[in-house]
Amino acid sequence: MPTALSGAIVITGGSRGIGRATALACIRAGARVMFSYQGNEDAARRTLEDCWALAGSDGISALRGDVRDENHVSALFQQARSRFGAITGVVNNAGIVAPSMPLADMDIERMRRVTEINVLGALLVARQAARELADGGSLVNVGSMAAKLGSPNEYVDYAASKGAVDSLTFGLSKELGPRGIRVNCVRPGLIATDIHASGGRPERIAELGPLCPLGRPGQAEEVADAIVWLLSEASSYTTGAMIDVAGGR
Ligand code: NAP
Repeated sequence: MPTALSGAIVITGGSRGIGRATALACIRAGARVMFSYQGNEDAARRTLEDCWALAGSDGISALRGDVRDENHVSALFQQARSRFGAITGVVNNAGIVAPSMPLADMDIERMRRVTEINVLGALLVARQAARELADGGSLVNVGSMAAKLGSPNEYVDYAASKGAVDSLTFGLSKELGPRGIRVNCVRPGLIATDIHASGGRPERIAELGPLCPLGRPGQAEEVADAIVWLLSEASSYTTGAMIDVAGGR
C-alpha cells in the first residue's frame, strides 16, 4: 500500500532536485505542501504546475526566500499554517556545494556561504519546526554521506556542514521526543541533480556514479521515498536516526 500523509508539510528548497521530488511525493501521498526556493522562478513554477497536475491547485504553494533569513523562515511556516492548517511535517532540505578544491585553497567568503546556508539555515528551519510542528509531527533533515566520507579535495567545508546536520538531528530528536515529535536525517549519496553543476562539476555524476557499490548514481525520487517514509506514521518509532540513501557509498 502506498504511504499516506496528512496535514501540511513545509519543504525548503522545493523547486529543484531532492526537494522537488519530495514535494511531488508528498502531494501524491495526500499531504498539502508549502515549499521555498531561493530564486529560480522557472523551476518553482514547474514544480507548482506538476503538483497541480497531480492534485489541483489547492494543496500546494511556494514562497521565495533565503533560509539564512529568519524572517523568511518564519513567513514560510506562517503561510503554511494559514493556508493549510497544522504543520505535521518539515523537510529541512535547502543546501549548496561550492567548487571542488582542497581546504587550503578556500577563501573565507566561500566557507561563510556554505556554512551559513547549510548550517545556520538548517538551524533556523529546525528552530521554527520546534516552535511550530504539531505534537506528533516529523522533522526530516537532509544531510549527506559527505558527513562520513569527508569529501577530501572536493569540499571539506560542505562535509563539515553536513556533520553539523547530523549533530542537530541527534540533539533535537532528544529535545522533541517528549512531545512525540520525531527528528531524523536522510543522508543522500551521489544523486543526479543540478547541485553538481552548480558546484562547477556537471560531469561528477557520470564519473563517480559507476563507482558506487550499486554501480549507478541515485535519483531524487529514491531519496524522496525515504523522506516520505520518515514523515509518515510508518516510521512511528524511528527518531534520531540516520537513513543513508547512498547506494552503499
Ligand atoms: P539542487 O538540485 O541544487 O536544489 C537546491 C534547492 O535548494 C533549490 O530548490 C534551491 O532553490 C534551494 N536553495 C539553495 N540555496 C538556498 C537558500 N539559501 N535558501 C533557500 N533555498 C535555497 O540540490 P539537491 O541536490 O536537490 O540537494 C538538496 C539537499 O540534498 C541539499 O541539502 C544537499 O546538500 C543534499 N544532498 C544532495 C546530494 C546530491 O548528490 N544531489 C548528496 C548529498 C546531499 P532555487 O531553485 O531557487 O535555486
